[in-house]
Amino acid sequence: MTSTQWLGDIEAKPAPGPLRLIQAFINTIDLESGQDRLANADDARPWLVENGLLAPGSVPTAADLRVLIDVREGLRALVMTNSGGCTPNPATIAPLRAVAEHGALRASLDERGRVSLVAEGDSIGARLLTLLLVIKDAQLDGTWTHMKACANDDCRWAFYDRSRNHGGTWCDMATCGNKLKNRDFRARHRPPR
Ligand SMILES: [Zn+2]
Repeated sequence: MTSTQWLGDIEAKPAPGPLRLIQAFINTIDLESGQDRLANADDARPWLVENGLLAPGSVPTAADLRVLIDVREGLRALVMTNSGGCTPNPATIAPLRAVAEHGALRASLDERGRVSLVAEGDSIGARLLTLLLVIKDAQLDGTWTHMKACANDDCRWAFYDRSRNHGGTWCDMATCGNKLKNRDFRARHRPPR
């Protein structure tokens, strides 16, 4: 049993509904401390199973973890675009596109006539397609553009922007926004030498 505390388990600005999975995935690493719950199988396994990305009883291989980390950085690049960043680098989103291209979907119709799409297959690669379905739905219902990455380059934490004008920039004003603003302020007001 591990006693590790993960920053991503408590979000100051949580995303609604299934988008919370995208946020949680991106926030499996704290870039400032380097703490990464996908760095080894023991830490990654419980989180992956809990979030439906790994079959219960399976253990992720080193190659699986590499794919997960690459996909995570692809997702971060996508939400950085929502924060006003430029179009994501093709190389950064290539692992995510590979998930899209190699995955298979199955449509289902429930007894009330509602249609849903589910990712087919049990491998991590197949299950990752679920993330793209979440993004697709969020792009349709308008919530996707509020999923952003913190403007602090050392942070890049994924947060959901609930500000009224949707102009939120920081994962947290006190820890990121103020820190950077004070740094900028000091830089501008440094006495001439
Ligand atoms: Zn931040």
